[in-house]
Amino acid sequence: MDALRQGCRGAAPREGFTACPSWGSSRAFICVDNYICGPMTQTAQSVLEHVFGYSAFRGPQQAIVDTLIDGRDALVIMPTGGGKSLCYQVPAIVRPGCGVVISPLIALMQDQVDALQAAGVKAGFLNSSLSAEQANATEQALLKGELDLLYVAPERLIQPRCLNLLKRSRIALFAIDEAHCVSQWGHDFRSDYLQLSLLHEQFPTIPRIALTATADARTRDEIAARLNLQNARHFISGFDRPNIQYRIQQKDKPLDQLLHFLRTEQKDNAGVVYCLSRNKVEKVAEYLCGKGFNALPYHAGLSADIRATHQRRFLREDSIIMVATIAFGMGIDKPDVRFVAHLDLPKSIEAYYQETGRAGRDGAPATALLLYGLEDVVKLGQMMAQSEGNEQFKRMERQRLDAMLGLCEITSCRRQTLLRYFGEEDTQPCGNCDSCLLPPKTWDGTDAVRKLLSCIYRTGQRFGANHVIDVLRGSSSEKILGFEHHKLSTHGIGKEFSATEWKAVVRQLVARGYLAVDADAFGALRLTESCRPLLRGEESVQLRKEVAASHTKATRTPHDDMDEQDIPLWNALRACRKRIAEQLGMPPYVVFHDSTLREMVAQRPTTERALLQISGVGDSKLQKFGDAFLQVIREFEYVEE
Ligand code: ADP
Ligand code: ZN
Repeated sequence: MDALRQGCRGAAPREGFTACPSWGSSRAFICVDNYICGPMTQTAQSVLEHVFGYSAFRGPQQAIVDTLIDGRDALVIMPTGGGKSLCYQVPAIVRPGCGVVISPLIALMQDQVDALQAAGVKAGFLNSSLSAEQANATEQALLKGELDLLYVAPERLIQPRCLNLLKRSRIALFAIDEAHCVSQWGHDFRSDYLQLSLLHEQFPTIPRIALTATADARTRDEIAARLNLQNARHFISGFDRPNIQYRIQQKDKPLDQLLHFLRTEQKDNAGVVYCLSRNKVEKVAEYLCGKGFNALPYHAGLSADIRATHQRRFLREDSIIMVATIAFGMGIDKPDVRFVAHLDLPKSIEAYYQETGRAGRDGAPATALLLYGLEDVVKLGQMMAQSEGNEQFKRMERQRLDAMLGLCEITSCRRQTLLRYFGEEDTQPCGNCDSCLLPPKTWDGTDAVRKLLSCIYRTGQRFGANHVIDVLRGSSSEKILGFEHHKLSTHGIGKEFSATEWKAVVRQLVARGYLAVDADAFGALRLTESCRPLLRGEESVQLRKEVAASHTKATRTPHDDMDEQDIPLWNALRACRKRIAEQLGMPPYVVFHDSTLREMVAQRPTTERALLQISGVGDSKLQKFGDAFLQVIREFEYVEE
């Protein structure tokens, strides 16, 4: 009811305009450049229920929505999937005028607008993909007050023509999405974002909200400073993504491991497989296609056309696996990505968290699987050494990589470590990562480590892991004989372990800083200062026992909580959704999200009234799609009785 206040405390009348009748009234709150200040006819709660079909706001959403409705600014940091969109969509609908959303993700605007229109919201977008006529029609709709939400690309917004248009229109709020793009230090930097401070200068009375999922404090401060949001209310949520299960495994036969994972846990699911190089992307995509999966490659070497087609198919079809380099990234707004698999080590925890974060936006169970091996460490180290940038930059990159390695080798909860890295100290073991689900066993590696270290020392700290391991295992290859390493006292003293087991030891020592991998040579291993107490016998080392890949299999599958007998209905509902989506030429999730279909399976509503109770079913979707889904459910009820 709060929202039904009336009046105005907006700006003083501009020249040439007459003042709004209630201007200056203290109880009032909406006056946008002297347009008529009508009362708000809907409350935030009714918009949430009737338009979006949800019963309650989540976390800080309510407070954020109220802040904007009251005409104040907000800075929102919320993890992916936290529900940022509603924070500006609801107030944009409640407040008179149109909410302007600034987003760099042009490719997604059409889908975002389709999704809003399916929910009955008057929405449009302006970007370079539109013809002059289309753009003109949208502009006219804006001027006539026919839009509740307008998505605009930043480069377009800052053009005088667009600013002029906005000044002649009634604006409810400005939402600056992906606000971290303003940060010159981040990898998503967009120079157009720097100019967005003009919003504050040119539209001082219109509330602004900046949103991002980017975690670190420095970026947050930069956003506040550059966008003039010092007086904004800050809403900073925790970064945990409880529905994502984190698993990190030793790379053994990575393609087999991936295949096993896909076949046993991810049947028919959409997901992303990240690889380091373009070449590998192509190979893996081809391999998966050969095994009967719908896999598509995505990397910067493909033409813009192909990339757009692949992205579109990923969004629109139900079970596409995107095999990609990190070029496939920001703004994968697909809510039902069920897994993200890394076949190569990400170069920092930040990157890992951002990439895995693309899974499970809808809140349903999702899996992040990382396969890594010693070769990754060597390769990344070399890439960093060769990269441009000064010594300090390289040192920072190296530290980030070390932190990532540390995450791979820990024996305690992965999530706790991740959250601690982002500054959240007070967390409990999560129960939903591989360390929690299958606590790794440890063994006393002191003896083995000493053998390894002395072998590295005696071979002159000039050789990579493979050669050192060959010496330890007593090989008499040409290379060994050539260097006369068969004459060393360490030759053959490590036959009790396989080469794979030795590699695991090397990796863990690198991760813990006992060994350094030379970046420029052939990944030569060197001892570091911290080895001394070990070599002197003053310290012992506990190592992680590697579990064979097949033993760390599925601990939970996406449909675990669904009874066997419910699966036919689930499939029928998905088929119904697909049919409707195809008719409309939209992605399936625009019709309903997975979570909505799952609730239908659980509740089996057979009347419109019951269907409206399902989360995600609002008035407009009930009217448009209700009958089709009710019919499917009724058929099943009938069959089962
Ligand atoms: P973000 O932009 O923060 O990644 P989204 O805005 O895409 O997140 O929301 C993530 C998912 O959560 C979407 O499927 C959205 O419909 C759903 N969602 C958001 N808010 C609510 C809510 N209050 N109740 C139920 N579902 C919600
Ligand atoms: Zn855990």
